[in-house]
Amino acid sequence: MEIANNLRRVQERIARAAESPGRRSDEITLVGVTKYVGAAEAAELVAAGCHHLGESRPQELWKKAADLTPAGEAASAAGNTTKTPPIHWHLIGHLQRNKVARTLPLVSLIHSVDSGRLLAAINEAHTPVNDQPPIAVLLEVNTSGEAAKHGLSPEEVEPLLAAAPNYPHIAIRGLMTMAAFEGGETIAAKNFAALRQLRDRLKPNIPSCVQLNELSMGMSDDFEVAIKEGATIVRVGSALWE
Ligand SMILES: *Cc1c(COP(=O)(O)O)cnc(C)c1O
Repeated sequence: MEIANNLRRVQERIARAAESPGRRSDEITLVGVTKYVGAAEAAELVAAGCHHLGESRPQELWKKAADLTPAGEAASAAGNTTKTPPIHWHLIGHLQRNKVARTLPLVSLIHSVDSGRLLAAINEAHTPVNDQPPIAVLLEVNTSGEAAKHGLSPEEVEPLLAAAPNYPHIAIRGLMTMAAFEGGETIAAKNFAALRQLRDRLKPNIPSCVQLNELSMGMSDDFEVAIKEGATIVRVGSALWE
């Protein structure tokens, strides 16, 4: 595995995809998805310069976050004796309510909020002390309509945003989606455009505690399409681990 080279190639592809819509590549955050690999490979990705890591299963995020703390074995195994850069963990998969409390202290952003019940559970579990910021989340939207996918239907998003003032310990920062499994780039582009259009339509009427600046969309097979459609965060796994 050529992790550093793979990372550089993905970063170059991001930069190139940003060019034609006239966007700057530093507006786009690359989340390296580590669900296929162990802590040692994840540590290598961090050392190569990717400081945002994503996991889809909470238990796996807990484990890797522990393994990748500076005192952990992975850091020393990677020969990492100098100061390790901070890792920003992203939960990109389904979060069960009984796993909320243990997950919150570890994550920078939860991409996958898909119900009012989950919002309420997060709000209740996060009691900010001192100046601790609220928990940053995205609402996951099922733009493809595929039954197997998690996520809110597009119609469910507006009422949830309207209820945001009931959850003062949460900051809703944007929306997330996954493209349909089938259909290739044309369908993916349609799904991504649908997320952007939903955001643009809702934005004028959101409560002042909500921001919808982030659009998390695009994976290894379709992140270039997503960037053309306005992604601010891409979640890339397989392309980093070839
Ligand atoms: C696995 C996963 C990814 C990364 O997928 P690749 O096709 O391997 O890049 C992105 N987002 C979510 C929600 C995932 O579960």
